[in-house]
Formats: sequence, structure tokens, C-alpha cells
Amino acid sequence: MPDITSPFGGLTIDFGATGNAAPLAAVPVASASPAAEGPHETNVLILGSGPAGLTAAIYAARANLAPIVLAGFQPGGQLTITSEVENYPGFPEGIQGPELMARFRQQAERFGTRVFDVEADRVDFSSRPFRAWAAGVEYRAQAVIVATGASALWMGLASEERLRGQGVSACATCDGFFFRDKAVAVVGGGDTALEEALYLTRFASKVHLLHRRAEFRASRIMQARAESHPGIEIHRGVTVDEVLGGESVTGVRLRDVATGTTRDLPVEGFFVAIGHRPNTAPFETWLAKDEKGYLVVEHETHSSIEGVFIAGDVHDHRYRQAVTAAGDGCRAAIDAERWLQEHEPAEAVVATAG
Ligand code: NAP
Repeated sequence: MPDITSPFGGLTIDFGATGNAAPLAAVPVASASPAAEGPHETNVLILGSGPAGLTAAIYAARANLAPIVLAGFQPGGQLTITSEVENYPGFPEGIQGPELMARFRQQAERFGTRVFDVEADRVDFSSRPFRAWAAGVEYRAQAVIVATGASALWMGLASEERLRGQGVSACATCDGFFFRDKAVAVVGGGDTALEEALYLTRFASKVHLLHRRAEFRASRIMQARAESHPGIEIHRGVTVDEVLGGESVTGVRLRDVATGTTRDLPVEGFFVAIGHRPNTAPFETWLAKDEKGYLVVEHETHSSIEGVFIAGDVHDHRYRQAVTAAGDGCRAAIDAERWLQEHEPAEAVVATAG
């Protein structure tokens, strides 16, 4: 059986390491602490530290905007809970998700980005400087880039949590390859679940699609594809009581919703695809959301509030890829830079050589 790499297995995520990168730029880098001394004012405050947020930081820092990143509850974002990333350009051998994000951060810090490992829990976008609070500290900014991403929903089973990265995953695109010629299960009845199930047929010997109801929520075309695929077996009206296995997944315990009876289904991979939730909580009263709960981008990367920009999965439920989020972060930083040029703040915060 191929190794199923734990998200953090064998990896030291050292966000402060410089590795083989070029020496740090002259701009001093503050330590990643909410209590760190120094100003909490910036031209560009970036909320979120996934590919969108850190790419925005790289661009904003290189534009001499001295950005601050509030990294959020999961520094590095969703890629830090996956294993190998094989579709991010520039890494022909693949790269571990956490390492990729550590490199993003290193690159952002190299140009003077200050990254604080705190989560913004409140914002005030009523006027400039915009304000955000995290761990009791107030941050002020002339422009804000919201890149807080989305979080995969989990079922909430203790066994699911224990075996995450040991056969339990929420990303078939990330981890499907590790299940070549193995039986896997996907739980969910929406487009994501069916898309994941179809994707997994490229590798798995058998894909069991587990849905708690008879009717799927997914689009008809996806249903038709899943139903007609010889590699997919659909189990309707079942819930998952437990993910089985000691060191790695060996099966799932299913409960028939109608009868209450249980049975064990042997699988080596368990993919949770019950939806994502965009991380919008602090912005509820400030930024518009669409019918799916994602932030609305007005034009390019601009939000409905002048000077507040949006990038990545917090508004994008279509592509949800590291590379698209990174591209979005780049666009948001360029938009913010141009907007700041046109809306010169009274006292710009300029990165100073140390
Ligand atoms: P979704 O449409 O909300 O579907 C979530 C599914 O998970 C539902 O079938 C739901 O069951 C099931 N579920 C939720 N909680 C569960 C639990 N605790 N245990 C078992 N099952 C549970 O989410 P999604 O599939 O991620 O799609 C989100 C949006 O993105 C949708 O609008 C979708 O169309 C869109 N999307 C589009 C594409 C595409 O266009 N290519 C791809 C992916 C997603 P019930 O049905 O019983 O509620």
C-alpha cells in the first residue's frame, strides 16, 4: 500500500526558516506575535494566509506597501491539511502542502510583510483607516484585502478527526492519487461529492458514494454521470456512524436511515464532501454575500466598499484551486496598489530600510 502521508507527518512547518532562499531584504520583519512591539498600521492589511493572502502579500510588499497579514485560525490555509500537491506549477516532483505554504510565507516575509498568527474577529470598514481587531489588538489600514478562504465541512466524528491524513481527506484532487487500486468512499450528495467521486474513479478500484437521502442535491448531469459510471456504487439512505481503522482507514460503519441497521463497508480512503463554508464571519455586516454565502466581488477584485478587496476561496466556489487563489491574490494586490495611488492616504505607511 502506498504511504498515505499525514498532513503533518514527518514535516516540520517552520514558517520562520529561510531555507535556500536569498537573504532577507533590508526591511525588518516583525516576529509573528500578536503582542509584538511596533506599529499595527499599514497601507494594506491582508486577512488570511492561504495562497491568495500570501500572494497578495508578496505583491504588496514588493510594491513597498509594507503589508500586514493576519494569518487566521489556520495559518497557510487549506493546503496545510493536505498532503502532496502535484498540480501547483513549478514543482514537477510535487510538494507537500504545508511546505508549499511555508515557502509562500517565507517569500512574503522576505520582502517585509509582517505576518501575525492571529485571526481577525471583528472589522470596521465604515471609513479609512479601516480597522480590524485580532486577539484584542487593533490594526489600521488604508486598504484591506479579504482572503480568508473557505473551510471544508467535516462530519464531526471523533474517528474522522483521528484518521485525517491517514486515509480521511476532504480533497480528492489533492489526495486521490494515493488510492490507486484501492476502494474508497465519498460521503455527500451535492455537486462536490459527485465531482470528487468521479475524479476518484481515475485511481480507485471502486468508489462508494454514500448519501443520506434518496434524492441527490447535485445537478442532474452530475447525477447521470455518477449513476452510469461503472466504477461508482451508490448507497442511498445511509449515514456514516464511524470511520474504522487504527493507523489508517480500513472501512466505514454505515447506518441505514430507514431501518437503523448497521454494516461495515471495507474501504481504505474516506472522502468527506459535504460542502465548504466560506470564512465570512467578521464581515457579515459589511460585505454582501451571494445566495451560497460567498462574498460578492463587484468588479475585478473590488468589493462594494471602496478600498476593500476580495481574493480567493472566500468568494470563489467554482475553481477553489491553490493556483487560482494565488492568481486572485496577485490581482487584488495590484488593484489595491492602484487604488491607493488614486486615493492617497494622508499619511502613508512606507516600508523603511532597517
Ligand atoms: P451542497 O450542495 O451543500 O451539498 C452538500 C451535501 O452534503 C448534501 O447532499 C448534504 O445532504 C450532504 N451533507 C451535508 N451534511 C452532511 C452530513 N453531516 N452527513 C452526510 N451528508 C451531509 O455542497 P457542495 O456539494 O459542496 O456544493 C456547494 C455549491 O457549490 C453548490 O451550489 C454546488 O452546485 C456548487 N458546486 C459546483 C460545482 C461545479 O459547478 N462544478 C462543483 C462543486 C460544487 P442533503 O442533500 O441531505 O442535505
